[in-house]
Formats: sequence, C-alpha cells, structure tokens
Amino acid sequence: MRVFNFSAGPATLPEEVLRQVQEELLDWQGIGASLIEISHRGKEFSAVRDEAEVRLRRLLDIPDDYAVLFLQGGATLQFSAVPMHLLQGGSADYVVTGAWSQKAYREALRLAPVLGGRVRLAASTEESGFTRAPRPEALDLDPKARYVHVCTNETIHGVEWLELEAIAATGVPIVADMSSHLLSRPIDVRQFGLIYAGAQKNVGPAGLTIVIVRRDLMRDPWVGTPAVMQYAAQAENQSMLNTPPTFAIWVSNLVFAWLEKLGGLAAIEALNVRKAEKLYAAIDALPLYHNAVEARWRSRMNVPWRLKVEALNEVFLRESDAAGLKYLKGHKMVGGMRASIYNAMPEAGVEALAAFLHDFAQRYG
Ligand SMILES: *Cc1c(COP(=O)(O)O)cnc(C)c1O
Repeated sequence: MRVFNFSAGPATLPEEVLRQVQEELLDWQGIGASLIEISHRGKEFSAVRDEAEVRLRRLLDIPDDYAVLFLQGGATLQFSAVPMHLLQGGSADYVVTGAWSQKAYREALRLAPVLGGRVRLAASTEESGFTRAPRPEALDLDPKARYVHVCTNETIHGVEWLELEAIAATGVPIVADMSSHLLSRPIDVRQFGLIYAGAQKNVGPAGLTIVIVRRDLMRDPWVGTPAVMQYAAQAENQSMLNTPPTFAIWVSNLVFAWLEKLGGLAAIEALNVRKAEKLYAAIDALPLYHNAVEARWRSRMNVPWRLKVEALNEVFLRESDAAGLKYLKGHKMVGGMRASIYNAMPEAGVEALAAFLHDFAQRYG
C-alpha cells in the first residue's frame, strides 16, 4: 500500500509514472533490455534525452536563446558553478532568505578570492527568522553586479517569492535556485539569467540537476572550472560530456509527460494553490499549531509548522505515521513539522493531513 509521503526530497513521485517505470524496467519498449542498461549514446536513450528537453522547453516556454542542461552534482554544485562562470573579476549580490540561499552565499564567499571577485550581501531576512521575502526598499543592490542570486522557494523555512521586479529593474541578471518549486507554476524564464534546480524535490529522482541558462552567460568560465561543470561544453555535447544520470532523465521525462497530460503548469498551479490553502487553513484554524511565515510569502510546496506544546512532537509524529502520513518531521534547523506537498502529492493526501491536524488538536489541544 502507498502512504502519503510528505518527504522534502527525494520526494513523492506520481504513482502513474512509477507504474510505467515498473512496467518498462526489464524490457524498455521491446528492446529486451532496460533503458538504464544501455549506452547513453545509443539512439534509444538519445531520443529520450531529446524528448525530455523538448517537453521541458514546452512546459516552461523556454526561449531558444536559453540552453537547457541536464547535469549532476545537485543544486549544491551550482552554488560553485555559478560563481565560476559569472563572478571572475567582478562583484555579485546575494539575497539571503533562508538556509539554502545562505549556503549558496557562503560557497560564493569561499570561492571569491580564488576567482578574483567580490560577493556582497544585498539583503538578509535572518533577523525575521527567515519568515518573509526582503522588502524591496531593504535591497542594497549594486547596478554593476555581474548577477544577483536568489532562492525563490526556501525548502526548509517555507518561504516562496517571485516578486523580483525591484531586482529586475537594475538590469543585472538574476540567478535563481528553484530546486523545490520548479514546475509547480508557470514562470517567465526571460526574467532570469540562469535557473537551476536539483530534480529530487519537485521533478524526478535524485541525480539530475536542471540548469536553464541564457546562452550569453555561458561564456568564459574561470580557467579552473572542471569540464563537466562548464555550461558551454555541456551545451555543445547535449549534456553528455560524460555519462549522464540516465535513470533520472528517463523518469523526469515521464514526469514531464504526466504534467503535459494534466494540462501543463497553469493546471498544476491551480491544484497546488488549492492544496496549500487547505493545509494552511487547518494550521491557522487550530491554536495548537503555528506557521511563522508572513501569509503572502508562504510556500505552496513546503509547509513548516510547530506545535505550541513541544512535548507533543513525538506523539504527533508517531500517530501521524501510524495514520499513513509519513515523513512529517521538520528540518532540524527549524524543528516542529514540515509537509512537502509537491506536484505529485495528491489533493487527497493534503485533505487527509488536514483532517488529522483537526483530529489531533481535538484530542490533545
Ligand atoms: C535541496 C535543495 C538544495 C540542495 O540540493 P542538492 O541537490 O542536494 O545539492 C539546494 N537548494 C534548495 C532550494 C533545495 O531545496
């Protein structure tokens, strides 16, 4: 029996996709072997890779002057790859809105001396406990910066923001870590110089990292940049400079097809809005629970909350687990609970969780 899996990542995948993988695992489309047992350079896998790119371009309406790369190393490797390509001899602005953008900032700070560049903190919401997006007037932006780095959905703190007009107004390319909400809603790719995302949150299995980069930003990486990290070299080789993560690309392609069948990103967004509203409504209605994020910046994907009686945490986790609502323990940085309700989480899962929240509060609140 499948449970409702609220894991933050690797995370729940559409059941339909998993069944198709199961069905095709031993004999992919009649070739008598699995797609993950054959050469990535053969016509079978190449066709799947190409199809994945076509579908992703269609879903996100990615213009031709952007390259789509299927890389490895996770979003974390992009914390390094971005400055290696864009920072040299210049300055970059970082907006820190939670744990992940802070990690990206720290990695850039670490590399800056090697790259002969400078890294500035353009804003931080740490003093609010990472419970909101930065106020536009609090942004200290350098109009000469090479790029501005943001994380548009903070997976741990549950803050989501795409109100980037103040940053866009400077004309400086925006680099966005969208690991935990890429494909959850339509976005305007043209607003960004570079978008990156580890697949294992809202897209597919672990092992694949998606990079969408405006082609003019791929030029002249730092001389020490490993070849597999170089955007232009990967773009010239269809992301196959070395062996790509074939399983993750295959499954992600099936997820893309699943999204298209559902009606694309506008359709999944409507569903995601409904799911998030139901969950936040339950949290807000019950005095036992508290979500600290300012309402307008609350993430649709990652919903953290605390129990006002901390002593009940263990009981809550035990009972929710027994009810088939799994992996609700919050990240150790923030404590409490967290439900990740990505694209593949059915609305029934959110409804079951909301009902459990009510029931638990009634019994212990
Ligand atoms: C999970 C996550 C990361 C790190 O991803 P890896 O693929 O493990 O390197 C970075 N940024 C965000 C927003 C994340 O959610």
